[in-house]
Amino acid sequence: YSSKCIKPRSFSRFSRNITIPAIGSKAKLLINGEFIDSQADTFTKVINPATQEVVSLVPQATQKELDEAVLSAQHAFKTWKKTSILSRQGVMLRFQHLIHEHLDTIAKNIVTEQGKVMNDARGDVTRGLQVVENLGGLPDYMLGTRLEVSRDMDTYTIREPLGVVGGICPFNFPAMIPLWMFPVALATGNTMVLKPSEKDPGAALMLAELAIEAGIPKGALNIVHGTKPTVEFMVNDPAIKAISFVGGDAAGKAIYTGATANGKRAQCNTGAKNHGIILPDANKDHAINALVGAAFGAAGQRCMALSTAVFVGESAEWIDELVEKAKLLKVGSGFNPDVDVGPMISIDALKRAESLVESAKTEGANIILDGRNPTVEGFPNGNFLAPTIIDNVTPNMQCYQQEIFGPVLIILRANTLQEAIDIVNSNMYGNGSAIFTQSGANARLFQENIESGNVGINVPIPVPLPMFSFTGNKASFFGDTNFYGRSGINFYTQLKTITSLWRHEDVQSSKPSVNMPTMK
Ligand code: NAD
Repeated sequence: YSSKCIKPRSFSRFSRNITIPAIGSKAKLLINGEFIDSQADTFTKVINPATQEVVSLVPQATQKELDEAVLSAQHAFKTWKKTSILSRQGVMLRFQHLIHEHLDTIAKNIVTEQGKVMNDARGDVTRGLQVVENLGGLPDYMLGTRLEVSRDMDTYTIREPLGVVGGICPFNFPAMIPLWMFPVALATGNTMVLKPSEKDPGAALMLAELAIEAGIPKGALNIVHGTKPTVEFMVNDPAIKAISFVGGDAAGKAIYTGATANGKRAQCNTGAKNHGIILPDANKDHAINALVGAAFGAAGQRCMALSTAVFVGESAEWIDELVEKAKLLKVGSGFNPDVDVGPMISIDALKRAESLVESAKTEGANIILDGRNPTVEGFPNGNFLAPTIIDNVTPNMQCYQQEIFGPVLIILRANTLQEAIDIVNSNMYGNGSAIFTQSGANARLFQENIESGNVGINVPIPVPLPMFSFTGNKASFFGDTNFYGRSGINFYTQLKTITSLWRHEDVQSSKPSVNMPTMK
């Protein structure tokens, strides 16, 4: 590339160890390439959900620190946007290598801060890593179009970055969601201010350290902390041109409304109530295993958890077997390799889930597996809820109307596939749904008529790989340009269309034309 281009920082072939903060220490901000202590006077405690131990303290960044983060991103943008596409791609290739190398360290931090079991935490990092790996195809994604529109006249498009963009993350995928955001934003030439969840910021900080090691320049990625005040700053600061958000409904709606009113692009992935329809012609073992894994894995704290089963006709006879399989799951600390279901993120989240289970009982549903107050040896203080299954739920019940976001599977019944599809489509959310069947015709009917954005056919958690995009719809998504894949590239870039005239011969000057040029 041209010597005028800014070269990314050099990359050491032998990466150093990643920083593991001491227990109880204060989470650092990343501003202008330096990890610094905040001057904050308020902090949120990051609590190990299996033990209630304070892992770290997350500052509410001060106004000065937030301003500095944006200024540093603005400054870095001036040069980062001019780097060649191959050098930015090179940084991402080195970054994916470093994530591979440190995958277990990041996963361990996720188990400590978030609670999910180690193998699932590795999956959290890996699904984000795949987004970085997919940026190996960056030049192809960034290709423009060109057409000779008239004699000697060409029109062509260039994809340009937006400037400083903001990312706001939820607690449930501390690595995957930051990796949906900043690698795509940076690879396309933007700089970013990222706010991890105040409940588990450790993985994002580790990933930022690796991104710096991979060669991103000072200020290209800034990490700020805090809660609503930090988010409001990001939504309102005019220097931030676009907001990527993943999290719950209340924050998502407020952020989308605020950001778009301020003239920003916004993509906000929000809550979900994902349904699995089980037809009597399904492969029984596959369907039951898939339901158990997708309902209770990650303690049900996945936006694509299959939290609602709709059994059609005789498939309801399999419910007893489903309960027996769910009972076999072991609850406990995510560091125990035999454990399947870790703790929920907080005592509040646990209490909320327990009370929704209780409300189902009051409203007339049957709790056929009650996982409340399990005994977990060695972890008496953890936020544990063992797999819970509620049968005979109807759509008017609170446990159906709210996202429980815990290891709770609710069951509805339908007489026909069409009735089941109607139930799913009546729900306000449209994140994901799945069907279990061995009939191609039924699968086709489902695919055509279901209103969810991520659809599984005999696949329980159809989170698309990063050559596609994550396409939730209805109340699960506010915006029109999705995360990662080609959509992600489109979100973080804008088109410039150039029409040029280069003529070999001298242009014969006649008189000026005042007519609208038609280029014919
Ligand atoms: P949350 O909305 O509580 O927090 C998400 C982020 O928003 C955090 O960074 C938080 O600090 C901030 N925030 C919280 N309340 C706010 C407010 N009132 N105003 C402004 N900002 C606020 O979400 P969570 O509990 O961390 O995550 C769980 C939720 O995220 C679930 O609803 C889940 O379905 C959803 N989620 C959706 C997807 C998806 O792709 N659709 C993926 C993961 C998680």
